[in-house]
Amino acid sequence: MFFMGIISLVLTIVMAIWVFYGVFEKQQKEDIQLHCRLLKKICQEIDSYDELDRYVEDEMRVTIISPDGNVLYDSGADEGQMENHGDRTEVEEAFEHGVGETLRHSDTLGYDTYYYALLLDTGDVLRLSMDVDTMYQSYNNALPGIIIVAALVMIISILFSVLLTKSLVKNKKKMAENIEDIDKDVPYKELKPFALAVKDYQTKKEQHANIRHEFTANVSHELKTPLTSISGYAEMIETGIAKESDIKVFAGKIRLEAGRLLNLIGDILRLSELDETTSELVIQKENVDLMEVIKNTINLLSFKAEEAGINLYMTGEPTFVYGNARMLEELVYNLCDNAIKYNKKGGFVRCHVGRNDGKPELIIRDNGIGISTEHQDRVFERFYRVDKSRSKATGGTGLGLAIVKHIAINHNAKIRMKSALGKGTEIRVIFG
Ligand code: ADP
Repeated sequence: MFFMGIISLVLTIVMAIWVFYGVFEKQQKEDIQLHCRLLKKICQEIDSYDELDRYVEDEMRVTIISPDGNVLYDSGADEGQMENHGDRTEVEEAFEHGVGETLRHSDTLGYDTYYYALLLDTGDVLRLSMDVDTMYQSYNNALPGIIIVAALVMIISILFSVLLTKSLVKNKKKMAENIEDIDKDVPYKELKPFALAVKDYQTKKEQHANIRHEFTANVSHELKTPLTSISGYAEMIETGIAKESDIKVFAGKIRLEAGRLLNLIGDILRLSELDETTSELVIQKENVDLMEVIKNTINLLSFKAEEAGINLYMTGEPTFVYGNARMLEELVYNLCDNAIKYNKKGGFVRCHVGRNDGKPELIIRDNGIGISTEHQDRVFERFYRVDKSRSKATGGTGLGLAIVKHIAINHNAKIRMKSALGKGTEIRVIFG
């Protein structure tokens, strides 16, 4: 503000001097011309040029020149001593055209002089002159005033900028002290977007912290159950409560629970890995044929499907998407794995890949147990399971669909779910 004040002040002064100088000069010249015309009239009234003495003012010089160039009258000097004036530009012009003017620089005197000449009815020329220095004198007189005003403006702008800065800082300090409710009582409407951005950031941070907190609580809980069983079975063996014949069974149970723990830890690690690699830069992508992805997954799951009595098959055509093959395989694996796990004996799982509306699309459909409408939105949440015991019995962790969702987001893909209880489920992954 201060610098702007100073800059505009200097610019204004320079501009004003420039403009007024022009106006002032013109005004002065016109004054001299007017005087000259008046004196011309007087010349017609008087008998001798010497009478002009009465009408001439101090700062002006009046000269009368005869057609042969002789000086007949001069208000400033002795006429007899003066050289021939016939060759002066303004005088020559006046003899020729009736008027003449010049601005001449005098080296000896060091300033400019303005001359204005008029032809008289007598045939002589009347010339008026005035030093330009006198004309600009008034300007020099005004200079101290200008400097004082400039200094005043400077002081005022310093004062204002200090006060303004203080009040701005005070308001921001107040906002900072009350950062929790920064969006309330915003002192200026200009600060509103800033306050809202801070609030938005805070909310996101809080949400994130809540999600993390919830996740940690869930993880601890999920780890606790298998560990409790393991320690229970181990204790029974240790204390001898378990009969010799039970030991094998208990060992098997311990192994099962340990396997569950490993699965769980594997999924948790995978999720946190995915959380860290959300940025495009970290994920290495290439053109991947979804058909190949499905083929590989079906190979991996064929034994499991056979065991469960489920028919696993695939339809469609080679379809390429830009993505990470390992992650896409993981996505298809989790979806197919669920379609097998939550199915009925003799059921089917159909994987289809192709284009719909020009967009690559992946459909995993089963005619298994289905998901009722109220659970459909929530199954993608971490640790959410419709039927906990069934999920556990099949080695589920409740994280599979959360991983699927994460991978879909990383691939700019949308997930659509259609499901009917008892009839089956269809999950579509549509790539953008
Ligand atoms: P889980 O490890 O329990 O399978 P997921 O996140 O993969 O965890 O799935 C969450 C829940 O969604 C499952 O527990 C199950 O109740 C339900 N679900 C997932 N896929 C299907 C499906 N194809 N048919 C029926 N229910 C399903």
